[in-house]
Amino acid sequence: MSVNLHPVAPVPFVSKQHQDTARYPHGVAFMDGQYLPMSEAKISVLDWGLLHSDATYDTVHVWDGRFFRLDLHLDRFFNGLAKLRMDIRMSRDEVAEVLQNCVGLAGHRSAYVEMICTRGTSPTFSRDPRNAVNRFIAFAVPFGSVANAEQMARGLHLAISNTVRIPPASVDPTVKNYHWLDLVKGLYDAYDQNAESALVLDYEGNIAEGPGFNIFAAHNGRLSTPAQNVLPGITRRSVLDICGALDIPVAEVPVSVEHLLAADEVFITSTAGGVMPVTKVNQTVIGRGDVGDLTTRVKDEYWRRHADPEWSTPVRYFVEGV
Ligand SMILES: *Cc1c(COP(=O)(O)O)cnc(C)c1O
Repeated sequence: MSVNLHPVAPVPFVSKQHQDTARYPHGVAFMDGQYLPMSEAKISVLDWGLLHSDATYDTVHVWDGRFFRLDLHLDRFFNGLAKLRMDIRMSRDEVAEVLQNCVGLAGHRSAYVEMICTRGTSPTFSRDPRNAVNRFIAFAVPFGSVANAEQMARGLHLAISNTVRIPPASVDPTVKNYHWLDLVKGLYDAYDQNAESALVLDYEGNIAEGPGFNIFAAHNGRLSTPAQNVLPGITRRSVLDICGALDIPVAEVPVSVEHLLAADEVFITSTAGGVMPVTKVNQTVIGRGDVGDLTTRVKDEYWRRHADPEWSTPVRYFVEGV
């Protein structure tokens, strides 16, 4: 794969596509050494990423022109690559440069930025994963959230599915992955109960996580969050760090269904939306049924930190912000 890290050449092409308002989402992708409009970023149907979910990825966001905790996302991505024995033939700095360029070319002030490595395809359609040429893809599209503005104001309604999250002995949860059939089943179970999103259980029957988010519960001013059997989210990490800074007691412990339903406050965390309040789980109203003070405090501090140079890095834009 030839890696074109030079951002200047594709600019006119990309910005022309970018003005095409009929295409959604607006964004810029990088693959096979080139920057492309989102609509042209396509992979082979023979890619192991599609055929076997043999892939890892990470998502970082840009808020108000700054990447949030990019280093932690790159750490997690490169850790996943090593564990899956994938080689993208690019350094960490080169990946950071590509992500910068995707956002810089797209011009988004707030973006959802994904880096992906699939096992790729083998020239002979061999069944031996070692013969596949691993494929690196990155893209930047507009920022998206699990919760919309109305849900942020009143709190989300979640339902606990009896689906068990794929156990760590099968798939290492510290490697961010697309093994989502359990999470998608959880979503349909939740929709059947008129809820808006789902929680799935771990193999011990405790609360694990939801489709792309971790969960926290507050009891008498103390937070708890599941420690095992979950993807170690960077937003979760950020909340733990914020709790340290604000002297909010927090414990990483198993969270039972009963414990969650008895909470004063519940919130979920994801790069796609940050800290998001939950006011109903199954048919149980959480606490007073509105967005709690602790949730608001943590959420406000989380967003305040997006301007902190220790937690964020500025994007270099090539085109005007959109
Ligand atoms: C990405 C993800 C999360 C949230 O992680 P963040 O780094 O906070 O975005 C939680 N659970 C799963 C399964 C995920 O894929």
